[in-house]
Amino acid sequence: MAVKKWVYLFEEGNKDQKDLLGGKGANLAEMTNLGLPVPPGFIITTQACNAFSAGGKFPPGLMKQVTAALKRVEKETGKSFGDPTNPLLVSVRSGAKFSMPGMMDTVLNLGLNDETLRGIIELTGNARFAYDAYRRFVMMFSDIVLDLDRHHFEQMLDDMKRRLGVKLDTEVGADALVQLVARYRAFFRKTMGYDFPGDPLQQLEMAIRAVFNSWNNKRAVDYRNYHKIPHDLGTAVSVQTMVFGNMGEDSGTGVAFTRDVATGEKVIYGEYLMNAQGEDVVAGVRTPIKISELGKQNPRIYKQFLAIATKIERHYRDAMDIEFTIERGKLWILQCRVGKRTAAAAVKIAVDMAGERLITRREALLRVDANQINQLLLPGFDSKAMEEAAKSGRLLARGLNASPGAATGIAVFDADRAEELGKNGKAVILVRPETTPDDVHGMLASKGILTARGGATSHAAVVARGLGLPCVAGAEGIAVDERRRQFTVDGRVIKEGDEISIHGTTGEVFAGAIKTIEPKLEENEDLRALLEWADKERRLGVWANADYPRDAQRARAFGAEGIGLCRTEHMFMEAERLPIVQKMILAETPAKRRKYLDRLLPFQRGDFEGIFEAMDGLPVVIRLIDPPLHEFLPNRLELVEQAATLRAESPTSRKLKSLEKMLAAVEGMAEMNPMLGLRGCRLSIIMPEIVEMQTRAIMEAACRCKKRGVDVHVKIMIPLVGHVNELKFVRDRLEPVAKQVMQEQGIDADYRFGTMIEIPRAAITAGEIAAIAEFFSFGTNDLTQTTFGFSRDDAEGKFLLKYVEDKILPVNPFQTLDRDGVGELVRMAVERGRAANPNLELGICGEHGGDPESIFFCHQVGLDYVSASPFRVPVARLAAAQAGLSDTAFKDK
Ligand code: ADP
Ligand code: MG
Ligand code: MG
Repeated sequence: MAVKKWVYLFEEGNKDQKDLLGGKGANLAEMTNLGLPVPPGFIITTQACNAFSAGGKFPPGLMKQVTAALKRVEKETGKSFGDPTNPLLVSVRSGAKFSMPGMMDTVLNLGLNDETLRGIIELTGNARFAYDAYRRFVMMFSDIVLDLDRHHFEQMLDDMKRRLGVKLDTEVGADALVQLVARYRAFFRKTMGYDFPGDPLQQLEMAIRAVFNSWNNKRAVDYRNYHKIPHDLGTAVSVQTMVFGNMGEDSGTGVAFTRDVATGEKVIYGEYLMNAQGEDVVAGVRTPIKISELGKQNPRIYKQFLAIATKIERHYRDAMDIEFTIERGKLWILQCRVGKRTAAAAVKIAVDMAGERLITRREALLRVDANQINQLLLPGFDSKAMEEAAKSGRLLARGLNASPGAATGIAVFDADRAEELGKNGKAVILVRPETTPDDVHGMLASKGILTARGGATSHAAVVARGLGLPCVAGAEGIAVDERRRQFTVDGRVIKEGDEISIHGTTGEVFAGAIKTIEPKLEENEDLRALLEWADKERRLGVWANADYPRDAQRARAFGAEGIGLCRTEHMFMEAERLPIVQKMILAETPAKRRKYLDRLLPFQRGDFEGIFEAMDGLPVVIRLIDPPLHEFLPNRLELVEQAATLRAESPTSRKLKSLEKMLAAVEGMAEMNPMLGLRGCRLSIIMPEIVEMQTRAIMEAACRCKKRGVDVHVKIMIPLVGHVNELKFVRDRLEPVAKQVMQEQGIDADYRFGTMIEIPRAAITAGEIAAIAEFFSFGTNDLTQTTFGFSRDDAEGKFLLKYVEDKILPVNPFQTLDRDGVGELVRMAVERGRAANPNLELGICGEHGGDPESIFFCHQVGLDYVSASPFRVPVARLAAAQAGLSDTAFKDK
């Protein structure tokens, strides 16, 4: 059997061979073939690593090919491996397809022993340099290849420095280094029981083996598990001629990016150190110098470097990260890769490069991670102001970064007070031990949420994310005293009304105000341009979920083309309305109920007018009341407690009577399983008066707006339908109301009736339902709950995270749509619905509507639009374009 090719000279590879040569190796090969000054070397393939892992030994022919490749390198460099007169030294570098921490570190200066050392001294005339290289090599090799911890060696260096009375490594002279190397080797012998390997070929073989082994070390395996990188890729090994940045003041080493990776600006950005080797730049021993300084220190090298950087960038057509070394005035390039960048830089670089014609607009769209751009539009703190706050001791605590964004406001400790103050225009941070649904009205009126307990899926976190409010949850060390309206942390007391600042993106909590910056899409020219290009490439519409005119306006400013979900229950929760809502619920007859509904009607109509005005010319989907009615009533336990106290204090009071009445009603409405109980269209069938009022309010608002010249397109959505007859019953009750309103108002309005698909039965019988519905909106939050049979709160609170950790589920299905189950139901409903009603309009309004991976799916199954929370509208615009580009005949070239 012919022996496989395990070894490639740099000249033999190219950048598209990352699978075989690893990222580092493939790029070294590419740069070599570009004619750049890359120290010669060769790459051992990932296949050799895999063969080693499978067989437990080097595959046949490997070392033979390695020595043959070495010969070629020797020829090219004029040096030879192990030759005392003109020794070749190499680095042994690991590199898998993806850059991966946990893999073996690079060993530098390999090939040194007592004989070759003498050669280096003679050639360089620099004994100090040679012994320093030797010392580093013994330490690195012991540590990296043989697991003999480097701190032993560092200890010996420190002892030496103390004896010499010096501070810096560079102050340790040649003689001392000679002694130190002797000590290193003695220590090695004592600990390992054999001599430090002196044979260069043996050193090389051991280093290669160690790199192979590191593919399966625990850190690497954990990293791959976490990032879902397959375990059978293997790592390549690059063996490369050493060049020395530590040969004196005309030598140096550094790292640079072809563009500023923080801002995206088109300037070389990076750092270097003169007289330094390899890791010294990142190790933080000495402070590196800005790359622009090189222009002054050594204009010739700097110019050369700029030319190379430009060449690399033009060749790769992306912003690149480049490692270089200067050896006695000669520039060498040691690595290049696509530069990691911030979200802001990613957008600017993509747009600029399209402008420079380096890439096409379509490529620019594919270069930006849709999820990343979300953070560009969230409010943040002025970074200087935040630093100052931290410096002056105002950092109070850290918690979980539960919902991104930042806010300053006064601390308030209960939801009612937060609502009251918030409505009066005060910036409020609601501080609670943890939040419950009873706090939502207060959250709505706040600028941010801080809780002492709870995690990423706590009520506070989930609701805050939904509302686009910054939230720090589970802040450590904060003790909330609700009764005294204050919290303490580290002995400091923050009282109601004191200003605090929370950063939901970092999880930090500060005392006092910090200047916030609210980014605007209009002001971010690059992002605006990118999103405009995106709009040309997408077929999916992008709508938003918004319950208030304020949110609708924001969504529209972010580019939303409609409201895909306007929930009406918040409107019932507001302070002045809730008592009327409660009386309405407790009413004994439909006639009495109507009386209270009549009082609610103007409120709702006003809300809808606000939304229609904000969305002038665009469609608005309004969902009729959905939650079970007891959500609008007081908590049962609290009522029991209050009643007990009153019974003792004033047993004949009228207050007690009404409390008891309320308690009886609450108990009467209690359900075993409210999520599956009397809610949605079921409630509309049992108590049609409520949705009749809502329909009247919607249609009156529509007609009144239309008379004022507002262009209204309203879609009335009936939730939780499982059987076509439910929809039919409700629609038949409501359609006459709509017609009657138009007649009363003497004007027609564009309205449709449709339903939410959120029960598996509805998806399965979508054909029948589509005969009655003019649109479907997939409520994939509930559809996920009902398909899996999970209650989301219980699942996320109790077992879902473990499911994801243990890979029972690949991802949290509430974040990314479960294609195989929930997705199949969606697909079925789309097909059956469209077959029955070709004009059926199809959208999604679950949280998945803002998730790029789920948006991809929505594109594939042929929905008409996705509806996302306002802050995620830009994300959805980009993701929809990326999905669109994936099925045009577009290639990444
Ligand atoms: P990493 O994957 O951690 O970046 P590298 O293989 O790039 O590891 O090497 C670590 C350091 O050693 C880098 O600063 C690199 O530039 C330097 N280095 C690697 N090989 C050589 C070489 N042949 N000559 C000089 N410096 C080298
Ligand atoms: Mg590197
Ligand atoms: Mg629902």
